[in-house]
Amino acid sequence: MFNPDYIIVGSGIIGCSTALQLANTGASVRLLERNQPGQESSWAGGGILFPLLPWDYTDAVNQLVQRSIALFPGWAEELQTATGIDPEYRCCGMLVLPPVSTSKARIWCDTHGTRLESAGAREIVPELAADEEALWLPDVAQARNPRLLKALRRRLELLGVEISEHTEVTRWNSDGARITSIETSRGELKAGRYIVASGAWSKKLLGEHALNLDIRPIRGQMLLFKAEPGALRTIILREGFYLIPRLDGHILAGSTLEDVGFDKTTTEQAKAMLYAQATEILPLLKHAPVVKHWAGLRPGSPDNIPTIDRHPQLENLYINSGHFRYGVTMAPASAEIMANLILERPQTLDIAPYRWPVAQK
Ligand SMILES: Cc1cc2nc3c(=O)[nH]c(=O)nc-3n(C[C@H](O)[C@H](O)[C@H](O)COP(=O)(O)OP(=O)(O)OC[C@H]3O[C@@H](n4cnc5c(N)ncnc54)[C@H](O)[C@@H]3O)c2cc1C
Repeated sequence: MFNPDYIIVGSGIIGCSTALQLANTGASVRLLERNQPGQESSWAGGGILFPLLPWDYTDAVNQLVQRSIALFPGWAEELQTATGIDPEYRCCGMLVLPPVSTSKARIWCDTHGTRLESAGAREIVPELAADEEALWLPDVAQARNPRLLKALRRRLELLGVEISEHTEVTRWNSDGARITSIETSRGELKAGRYIVASGAWSKKLLGEHALNLDIRPIRGQMLLFKAEPGALRTIILREGFYLIPRLDGHILAGSTLEDVGFDKTTTEQAKAMLYAQATEILPLLKHAPVVKHWAGLRPGSPDNIPTIDRHPQLENLYINSGHFRYGVTMAPASAEIMANLILERPQTLDIAPYRWPVAQK
């Protein structure tokens, strides 16, 4: 059987964007997916391309986000041109309702060249229940993540990447210095290099090879309303709760942060909480039907810092995982780092924070 240059395990946004980077260099890439491509966290997420409150995060998170934000417009355009699938990448802005630390926000935005304005909340969104002094970030963008994944998948197919669905990796075979092959639900497979991009399942999949990797599932539930197109035009954020408008009138309300293991069930309690918050902030949602309620498992990591590195002991094993709350946002820059590392090209960022943790992170 043909052995590709790379096997990537997991076809969420991180596996797909990594595959794209490598396939663009002319390498042969095989993407293995346990279920169907792009149906886990990357599908379940909201697609806000910004850390909710960046001033609450470390430089390790922010530099990765900033690099991705710079790459996203070109990335989205290239995908749309090549595939004809519109990922609905657009700057819609984000309105941050109180309570929020205005001084911290202002300092962060000044330092990072991010536009920030103080505004009466109803100047930006007249339909809001309350008119309060709020913060307006006009340049925050979003992508419609399920469509972004569709475009990525199509692009990979056009580039000749082999996508193997329903192929679960179950075991690593190694000689102590290298991975020699992997066992999957469809038999043994080999490649030159192996990249783990298995989201919340990465640590579990690596087993003894995980070393001190600390990635675990953190459930997030989301509620979807269907309003009239244009009923809401910007993202609204209040104390970790957000509303995200899509162009066709769908409005996502999210989310929860639940440490409940590999359990993707939805709960009535979360549904009631999300509904109450959404309708309290934007009363017009009382007249919009709730059309869906789902949960996804984020790849949770300490301080939201992903691991993007080569294994400390196995020279052909790599990881790109642990993006927690911002994997959609961080995807282009994380894929760039992974490819630069493998191909020994110069990095655009300091990659020290993303090293494989040998001691506890
Ligand atoms: C409710 C919610 C809201 C979110 N909102 C945002 C947001 O607004 N902005 C943002 O940037 N991020 C957001 N996120 C976070 C973002 O979705 C994740 O960080 C990102 O999707 C992680 O991507 P991934 O490819 O690592 O994981 P996943 O998308 O989970 O992909 C991992 C893949 O690996 C496969 N896999 C696992 N084990 C194996 C195996 N043994 N063999 C083969 N395949 C395997 C899985 O089936 C899966 O398809 C949100 C997440 C949730 C849940």
